[in-house]
Amino acid sequence: MTSPRNLARLDVSARQPRTFDAPRLPDGHRAPVSTYFGRHVLDLIKLRERLPREVYNALLSTLRHGTILTREVADTVASVARDWAVSHGATHFTHWFQPMTGLTAEKHDSFADLNVQIAGELRVLEKFSGSQLWQSEPDASSFPSGGMRSTFEARGYTAWDPSSPMFLVESTNGRTLCIPSAYISYHGHSLDHKTPLLRSIEALSRNATAFLKLLGDVDVKAVSATLGCEQEYFLVDRTHHALRPDLVLSERTLLGASSARHQQFEDHYFGSIPARVLAFMEEMEYELYRLGIPVRTRHNEVAPMQFEMAPIFEDVNLANDHNVLAMDVARRVALRHDFVCVLHEKPYAGINGSGKHCNWSMSTDRGENLLDPGKTPHQNLRFLAFMAVCLKAVHDHAVALRWSVSGANNDLRLGANEAPPAILSAFVGEQLTGILERLMKGEASKDPEHFLIEMGVAKLPSVAKDNTDRNRTSPFAFTGNKFEFRAVGSSMNCAVPMTVLTAAAAAALHEMSERLKKKLDSDPRHRDQAVAELLREVFTETATVRFEGNGYSEEWKVEAARRGLPNLSDTPAALAEVMKPENHRFLVDTGVLSQLEVDARFNVSAERYLKQVTLEAETLLDVLTSAVVPVAERQLAATGAAWRVLSEAAGSAKGSSYGKRVTALASGLEAVQDGVARIQVVLAESHGGHDELAACRMLSSKLRPLMQEVREAADRLETLIDDETWPLPKYREMLFVK
Ligand code: ADP
Ligand code: MG
Repeated sequence: MTSPRNLARLDVSARQPRTFDAPRLPDGHRAPVSTYFGRHVLDLIKLRERLPREVYNALLSTLRHGTILTREVADTVASVARDWAVSHGATHFTHWFQPMTGLTAEKHDSFADLNVQIAGELRVLEKFSGSQLWQSEPDASSFPSGGMRSTFEARGYTAWDPSSPMFLVESTNGRTLCIPSAYISYHGHSLDHKTPLLRSIEALSRNATAFLKLLGDVDVKAVSATLGCEQEYFLVDRTHHALRPDLVLSERTLLGASSARHQQFEDHYFGSIPARVLAFMEEMEYELYRLGIPVRTRHNEVAPMQFEMAPIFEDVNLANDHNVLAMDVARRVALRHDFVCVLHEKPYAGINGSGKHCNWSMSTDRGENLLDPGKTPHQNLRFLAFMAVCLKAVHDHAVALRWSVSGANNDLRLGANEAPPAILSAFVGEQLTGILERLMKGEASKDPEHFLIEMGVAKLPSVAKDNTDRNRTSPFAFTGNKFEFRAVGSSMNCAVPMTVLTAAAAAALHEMSERLKKKLDSDPRHRDQAVAELLREVFTETATVRFEGNGYSEEWKVEAARRGLPNLSDTPAALAEVMKPENHRFLVDTGVLSQLEVDARFNVSAERYLKQVTLEAETLLDVLTSAVVPVAERQLAATGAAWRVLSEAAGSAKGSSYGKRVTALASGLEAVQDGVARIQVVLAESHGGHDELAACRMLSSKLRPLMQEVREAADRLETLIDDETWPLPKYREMLFVK
């Protein structure tokens, strides 16, 4: 028992849950969450206590009504932020932003100014000015720009987003003040994921308030989108992880025979949480609470060692910042518990992958959820109108939505038998379907009050309650008072799909407003009737996108094709479609992205796909040639020698099971060697051309299937080779030794 893998197995099985320094009450019990929730956030409550009243009001007016922030306000906020941060042990500050890599980026600066002249003497003082808060200029050259920078300038800058509060991040030996920021090129083009999200919220607000006015809701001043994301993740022991170059480099296992036990007993889901994992979750949640992130639920997921956390929903911009931050905290805290938190969409073949269900809705500045059927007929009609908006958004912009969740990692999950299909459809539930169908058939000439009652609109509240998520196979499901976009991948920055969804809703609202205006112009007397007529049209036009059946079934693929719904099975296919102007024009029309910014995102998307799949192929080659082949050769030599001894003793060993074992080893080894050579050829070919999309297509259609084929040969070898010598932690160890 001396191979690193076997030592790791012993180490891991001996691990104990780790305690942490949680705040405690005098009697020794854990202090309640309310005593430290938000302690590391400079939220509005803290700002109100610390800022002069007129400065606080000016800041509030910027947040609520978008008024321009003055220099004086920024200076005062900066000095308050510095005092607060320094008194909490922060030595540095950083603009915290989300470049198109999908991760977050930061560049720390010290508060300490080493060059302050006081009465002719050099002193050191903590300083932080409004302009430092406002903007910073990180070296932009190494972030992806999708080609935008070469057209313009190398410089980019980050700009403070006052709508997301500053917070403190704790590292081993200090704390840093993080300032949520947008990242913009010198000429004002967005280089990040936050800017388009903010613009999409703006577009939604503008179009939704206009639409609401037409519906008669004249005093709504702003509408925002809300988001609550259910984050799935895997934990793997860090020692096992360290022994798997594929996990280390590409975040997923590129080979590995399946374990006899996997998820067949369905006993992990909602089962009791393993003690070591629970200890991790408790510490992670403590960190998240201090950061003001309202995590609410924790549980086991379907696959072994797969878990989920979900927060209470918030405004989409804040919720997204919180999700990005939560992923980061999860990774950091996991290491303290000797786990690696794997956020990849498909770390293991043959068991469920991880998603990030994005629960999304729209809400007015008065806090009314527009996807919540209300008490009065008017509220219910409004609910149906916003339901129509959502169906239209998904119907008209399915391609862009599909693209927004694409990527080399999520390709491995979407359409597999545990995840939503690549076809975008919407589920609304049986009762609501019934109401929509009746509405579509209804006669517009009847008086509006009667009409609504007859259509069942008055009964809507009960519909919503009944409609608690009976269909788990839909990529976009109505779950009572929100839609759940389930195709989003676990490792993604969900700002991208949320931007596209919010922009799609804005575009739908714009078109529906125009149409409603026309109807009202021709007959201003019967508003509800005009609305009902519009809804009838929209529900009819978008009927193809509604699907209540099993989204995982083969029949659905056939049916979807018959309905003309796009089935874009991988990233290159999604990219090729979304690049057609008619499929992304709405992003430009709503002002969410300029054409240049759209094109840049497509470039980044292709580039990242190429890099990721190439990295996987190179990693696989490395593991095969340096780990699998050598042990297989030794095994073949040993087995061959044993066979010869046996044959000599018996006179003849022809056809014996031993011969079969030798043949299996030899042919497996050959298949792997041969596969290595073929992968090298395809990789070389893919580097040749200049057309990135063509290269992506080749990687998807040729390289990935080839990698799968070679992996299968290697996995057969794994089962034939002396367990003592196999170098890579096996699936059964990574998933079950804890
Ligand atoms: P489940 O999907 O398990 O039935 P819940 O109803 O608890 O879950 O909701 C899942 C997520 O949806 C949570 O993060 C919750 O806060 C969020 N959510 C609830 N209402 C809204 C809303 N109006 N807008 C956005 N997210 C919401
Ligand atoms: Mg859910």
